[in-house]
Amino acid sequence: MRLGLVIDLDTCVGCHACATACKQWNTSGTTGPLADYRPYGENPSGVWFNRIRHYEVGDYPNNKTINFPMSCMHCDDADCVTVCPTGASYKRKEDGVVLVDQTKCMGCNYCSWACPYGARELDRESGTMKKCTLCIDRIYDETLDPVDRQPACVITCPAHARYFGDFDNPDSEVSKLVRDRAGMKLMPELGYNPTNTYLPPRLTRPVPTDDVRRKDLVSSVKEWVNRAVAR
Ligand code: SF4
Ligand code: SF4
Repeated sequence: MRLGLVIDLDTCVGCHACATACKQWNTSGTTGPLADYRPYGENPSGVWFNRIRHYEVGDYPNNKTINFPMSCMHCDDADCVTVCPTGASYKRKEDGVVLVDQTKCMGCNYCSWACPYGARELDRESGTMKKCTLCIDRIYDETLDPVDRQPACVITCPAHARYFGDFDNPDSEVSKLVRDRAGMKLMPELGYNPTNTYLPPRLTRPVPTDDVRRKDLVSSVKEWVNRAVAR
């Protein structure tokens, strides 16, 4: 089994609901509080597992905003695991989820330097590394309804831009989406073999604006009369 997320860049509206739900759920979850620094002061900051980047592509009038959520990719060949000197960073054999054992982490930062996706954050209050857990404490919780055994970010997304499932199962929703929509991995050339996959934004048809001229009422009426007479 290889669990992970599919994120649809065509429908993500960049609302940050997934990031907020992630922080809320995981602050009270297995990794413990996610620190906030100066929450009500100047330059507030904090630990987030999921952050949304915003990119502007193309030139006006053919430009477009792409909202790009990023969290741990749960890579198959994760260097964050191999560089960890204490064995705190590990990848589960049974489902491919990459986790950090908070009791073994000494906060040396090696894993965050190894991760090309910026997925790891040092929690300065606990002195340990924090990262997306794929909501491990939700997805296996048998006290929840099966429909709720999904990551908080997936359940919360109002645009339904996020999907969770098993990439090893060719019939899963995530596998079908990746096949049907030509899903792409982020920076595959680095060789980390990320599990999370992005559905690329579909092409938009640009609306020409250079030659738009509003016709005056007289010429519109004349045009209509001419068309009517010609019939
Ligand atoms: S899967 Fe869970 S921990 Fe990971 S980004 Fe989504 S909400 Fe956060
Ligand atoms: S909640 Fe959904 S639409 Fe909003 S930023 Fe996250 S992925 Fe995008």
